[in-house]
Amino acid sequence: KDLYAPGRVNSAGVEFGDARALALFREAVAKGPASFPEAARPLVGGKALRGAIRSVTSPVDGAPVGAVEEADAAAVTAAFDRAAAGFAVWSRTPVSTRAEALETLADKLEARLGTFCALLAREAGKTLDDGVAEVREAVDFCRYYAQEARRQFGEGVVMPGPTGEENRLRLRGRGTIVCISPWNFPLAIFLGQVAAALAAGNAVIAKPAEQTPLVAAATVALAHEAGIPADALALMPGDGRVGALLVGEPRVTGVAFTGSTEVAWIINRQLAAKRGPIVPLIAETGGINAMIVDATALPEQVSDDVVLSAFRSAGQRCSALRLLCLQEDVAERMLEMVIGAAAELRIGDPMDPATHVGPVIDAEAKARLEAVVERAKAEGRLVWQARLPADLPPGLFVPPAVIRVAKPEDLTEEVFGPVLHVTTWKAGGLARLTDAIAANGTGLTLGIHSRIDQVVEEVVARLANGNVYVNRNMIGAVVGTQPFGGSGLSGTGPKAGGPHYLPRFALEQVVTVNT
Ligand code: GLU
Repeated sequence: KDLYAPGRVNSAGVEFGDARALALFREAVAKGPASFPEAARPLVGGKALRGAIRSVTSPVDGAPVGAVEEADAAAVTAAFDRAAAGFAVWSRTPVSTRAEALETLADKLEARLGTFCALLAREAGKTLDDGVAEVREAVDFCRYYAQEARRQFGEGVVMPGPTGEENRLRLRGRGTIVCISPWNFPLAIFLGQVAAALAAGNAVIAKPAEQTPLVAAATVALAHEAGIPADALALMPGDGRVGALLVGEPRVTGVAFTGSTEVAWIINRQLAAKRGPIVPLIAETGGINAMIVDATALPEQVSDDVVLSAFRSAGQRCSALRLLCLQEDVAERMLEMVIGAAAELRIGDPMDPATHVGPVIDAEAKARLEAVVERAKAEGRLVWQARLPADLPPGLFVPPAVIRVAKPEDLTEEVFGPVLHVTTWKAGGLARLTDAIAANGTGLTLGIHSRIDQVVEEVVARLANGNVYVNRNMIGAVVGTQPFGGSGLSGTGPKAGGPHYLPRFALEQVVTVNT
């Protein structure tokens, strides 16, 4: 009875164990490429603008997936002009109508599961099961924010007051929100930000990651088809320069950003330097996410959960495990099992349903990861690295690796890929370990494997990470179940997929009427 908003159902996805469902899914994926958008263009008021053209190539094999035309300063100005008109209409559209448009979009997305999975595989290198999970998450975001908008943006709440006076507190849209999203969830995070901002009654100008403009273009096309007005949602493909133009525009009233801490700082500085309204930033960044394993943990469970958390999605999740902290007494045996389980991972073409690990996103990411592994090797700290199979496509594959660090503080940056660092801690050293973990300043996910309640309580009390996972893996937060987001260097603290997210995109207004 203390469940928050019970009765909501998450998207079902595909039952991979059901032969018929699997066959239908594979057929839909195979047909997917026929419906890819040929190009992502700046889209303002529903009209495609032209821009500098660039080819979008697949990380799987370097083959072209489509083209992108980049937004320029004129496109940005036009987008803000139309967004002002869009906001005037959309913010006064009844919340039930706004919610229905998002629900229609959710249904349309579900119906195009195969196309999106194929596009996510080709453009972003996502495995098919990651693709299904991502479409589900996107669908869930739309439905969840629709529900929350109805609940929170309707008539508002009547506040207590003296007789003869009515005091009503309401939420309303802020204006034009700029949404800047990452390539690692080109559908779910892209649409999560957009759906939240729209649900709250804002106009949105969305800038997808430069690596994944086609997924974004396909999504915006569906949103318009679903009834989101053309003026209320514009698409601005391009690189960081486009982001800087959008953030620097005097008319921006809010920015939602998911990506690196480095870029969050840049955006924050750019917003702070403006004279004019104080513009809020909703930032969700990464983390040096640790998992603490003590001697009472179940080794099989630990190895499965470590492999899933560190290497699936090629380690390209903000939530992914970066630093495994094993209690000394059991470290050797645990590590052996982790490596045994990791060696079973199939690295390959993400369009093959048997693949567990696809490529990393681009050549820069690959080079950065290889440099980390090379350095560890030179320093004698490389514990294990997978071997790439001979029949790989000619893409950006990085074999999963495990690297030793003497102490937690030695890992000072988030290594965004399938590279896991491991360290040990001594019995009785929990306080020192948690201090060391907290010292890096990030606070996103945290894993704990222990069968001692006091250990779990102690760790949770000492570390303020936004998402703590006990005796399970630490990825794949479910909308409406595990609201997701962290604090410190990991972000400004909003929880995507949680009940407090929409108010971040809103203004509060109290109307007091003398009756
Ligand atoms: N919400 C995702 C998860 O729990 C991670 C999101 C991200 O990588 O930004 O795995």
